[in-house]
Order: sequence, then structure tokens, then C-alpha cells
Amino acid sequence: MKKRIFDSVSFKLVLLLITIIMMLTMASFIFNSQIENLKKHIDKIYFGNFVPVTNLQNISSSYKDMIICLQNKEKLCSIKKSQKVIEKNWNDYFKGYKTNQERKVVNSVNEDIQVSFMDKNSMKYTIMIQKINFLIEYEVKNAKNQRVDFLNRYEEMKKLLFYNIIALVIFSFAIFIYLTYSIIKKDNHLTILNKKYKIESITDSMTMLYNRGYFDTIFDSIPAVSNANKWETAFIMFDIDFFKQYNDTYGHDMGDMTLKAVATELKKYFNKEYEYVFRLGGEEFGAILFDVDQEILENCLKAINKIIEYLRIEHKSSKANDFVTISIGAVIYEPGSNISPNRLYKMADENLYKSKQNGRNQYTI
Ligand code: GH3
Ligand code: MG
Ligand code: MG
Repeated sequence: MKKRIFDSVSFKLVLLLITIIMMLTMASFIFNSQIENLKKHIDKIYFGNFVPVTNLQNISSSYKDMIICLQNKEKLCSIKKSQKVIEKNWNDYFKGYKTNQERKVVNSVNEDIQVSFMDKNSMKYTIMIQKINFLIEYEVKNAKNQRVDFLNRYEEMKKLLFYNIIALVIFSFAIFIYLTYSIIKKDNHLTILNKKYKIESITDSMTMLYNRGYFDTIFDSIPAVSNANKWETAFIMFDIDFFKQYNDTYGHDMGDMTLKAVATELKKYFNKEYEYVFRLGGEEFGAILFDVDQEILENCLKAINKIIEYLRIEHKSSKANDFVTISIGAVIYEPGSNISPNRLYKMADENLYKSKQNGRNQYTI
């Protein structure tokens, strides 16, 4: 019983722990894959579309066009048109996100571009091409650095997340251990108390036999149990002979000791499965033996009379023997006979009376 209670509690707790760990692991997997996705996405934006190198390249090639225009003096080409392309691309580039440091560099180039439009000079255009190329290099270098920085921070975040999950698992495990410990401890305590209460409530404290209350329960069940199993069941009453005189002669304490000695012998003799021995009250005992027959019962009773007599507990004032003896009255319940427990008790009591009348230290069935 104790083991079963422990099993059910521990089973539930283990289930709870497994659920917690599974949920944590699942959560961390989902989180991890989401973060991995995010990283790829950001990386692509940052290194692909976000770096506005195309604008700068367009500006650079427009300046080259302007130089060619100036050198060739071709009618078809238009410096104004190139300037417009530059302005448009520059505005796009200028509007984009820049760090403070980038902003300073970009601002200085912004002024130069405005100045470069004031007069048509291929020297100035060449310088502008150099400046724009410098910007391109600068942007690429920055993007590279920022990407490395991002990757480092991403790795740190991943590590932090991993340690957090480990800490969470350890924490839940500690709580689980603590709960298990307290529940099992409480449970053990309860089981022990229950057991103790149960045994105490059905035991006669002096003889350690089953008490009268438990006798009533078992005795009332005789017809049902015997009928169901088709068992013959014996009910036996034992009574110490001339016990009043024993007390008077040897004192109450000695009387108690003798009572215990007789009880111990009865308990020792009727110790098999389906055999119950009770203290019915005073110096009277009872036994219920399920699944016996007349012959077995007779042998038992003959033997128990001898066993008590051969304890050789001196009893000078007994008129039956020199030693303490018992008288026995027994009855066998036949399955299907439908005799009530009350009737059964009376019959056994009558048989006990017969044993007393016939000289004691004997049995009657
Ligand atoms: P009989 O042979 O006819 O049974 O005579 P008896 O003297 O044994 O019967 P009776 O019923 O007259 O006396 C029973 C005595 O048992 C009376 C009582 O003092 C004693 N007795 C009952 N309970 C206890 C007990 O717990 N301790 C002791 N020491 N004596 C007890
Ligand atoms: Mg009596
Ligand atoms: Mg008696």
C-alpha cells in the first residue's frame, strides 16, 4: 500500500518534470530557429540592399560622362542631364540612414557636390569622382565592420539565451526535487500514522491480540465469507479456568502475566492465513478459523488444551488441575447453513459451558 502511494505520487512528479523540460526544450528550439532566421534576414538587408553603393556608383559614372562631354564637346551629350542624375542619386543616398560619424563625412561631400555644379571643370569632376569612390570604399568598409559587430553581438545573445535556458532547467529541477521530497516525506508520515492508528484501533493493548471491535467485524462476516468460498469456518471460545481464584491467590499482576502468556500461546498456535485470535474480554479469548473441518479442528483444540496445561503455570487453587488450564467451546459454520452470527455465538458459549460443567481443561464442539 505504502509503495503504491509512493509510486503514484512519484509518477505524477516525474511526468511533470518531463513536461517542463520538454516545454523548455521546445521553446528554446523555436526561439533559436526564429533568431537564426532573423539573423539571416538582417544580414541580407544589411549587406545586400541596405548599402547604397549603387547610388554612389551612378554618381561616379555621371561625373565621368560630364568629363567626356567636356572633352568631346559632343552636341548629343548634356551636362545638365548628368547633373540631374547626380542630384537625384545623391538625394537618395543623403536621405538614407547614417551614423554620426558617417554623417560628418557625407555632409562635407554634400557641399563639394553643390560647388562642383557651379562651373564646368573636368579637374573638379575628377576630384569629385575620387571623393565619391572614397565614399564607396568607406561605405563598404563600414558595412563590413558593422556586420562583424552584428555577428559578434548575435553570438553573445545566443550564448546568453543558452545559459538562461540551462539556469531555468536547473531551477525547475531544484523545485521538482524539493516538492518531491516534501510530498514523499509528508506521505510517509501519513502512511505510518495511518498504519499505526489502524493497528492500534484493532489491537488489545495488553495481550496484543485483536480486540473485541475487530472481532465483531470479522465474526459478522463469517456467513458471507464461508458461503462465498464454500468454506467450513470454526468459531472457538477459550476461557481460563478458575481465574478469579488465580488472582486471589497470586495477585492481579501475576494474573495479568498469565493472561498474556495464554494469549501469546494462542497467537503462536493460530498463526496461519485466515486464522484470527481475539481477546473477547477479561480472561476470555476467541478464534475464527476459516476453511477448516471437524477433524482439523478437534486436533487443534486437543493440542491447545495440552499446550496451555504444559506451560506449567502453577495454580494451587484450581479444582481442575495443578496448573493453569483453559476450557473451550467451539462450533463449525457449514456454508449455506444460514445460521446467524448471534446464534453461532450462543452455540459456542453453550459448548464452553458444557466444558466447564464436565470438569474444565477440555473442549466441546
Ligand atoms: P471459571 O473457571 O468458571 O471460568 O471461573 P473464573 O474464576 O475464571 O470465572 P469468573 O468469570 O468468575 O472470573 C473471571 C475473573 O477474571 C474475574 C476477574 O478478576 C479476572 N479478570 C478479568 N480480566 C482480568 C484482567 O485483565 N487481569 C486480571 N489479572 N484478571 C482479570
Ligand atoms: Mg470467564
Ligand atoms: Mg474463567
